[in-house]
Amino acid sequence: MDDRPFALALIAHDGKKDDLLRFAREHLDVLRGLRLVATATTGSLLSAELGLEVERVASGPQGGDLQIGARIVSGDVGAVVFFRDPLTAHPHEPDIQAVLKVCDVHDVPLATNRASAEILLAGIAELSRRR
Ligand code: PGA
Repeated sequence: MDDRPFALALIAHDGKKDDLLRFAREHLDVLRGLRLVATATTGSLLSAELGLEVERVASGPQGGDLQIGARIVSGDVGAVVFFRDPLTAHPHEPDIQAVLKVCDVHDVPLATNRASAEILLAGIAELSRRR
């Protein structure tokens, strides 16, 4: 069984996948200590490019955001890094909004850009050190 307690969900829109990869590369140490779950393409990239172990749900447009959302609701995901592309239209916009909503409903930390993701990961690393 995986004894890494904290599950982090990662999602990146196509226009932000390079940014997420760069971010993840710079935080490999912290990410390796977490359980990771990601939408399909994002997860594949993180595995292929960085060798991270990532559980993959469906692709975002195929309902993957909703699967991540369900895990947030069930308490299975402790934080979300969601590199959204706010300048592009997405066919699954309602699903994106649903993820943002359940994070707020369940008080789950959510970073939607790199600057906030930096702070979120620093916070997670600090919490792990205190455990
Ligand atoms: P993907 O899904 O990681 O499968 O690309 C994310 C999205 O585009 O919503």
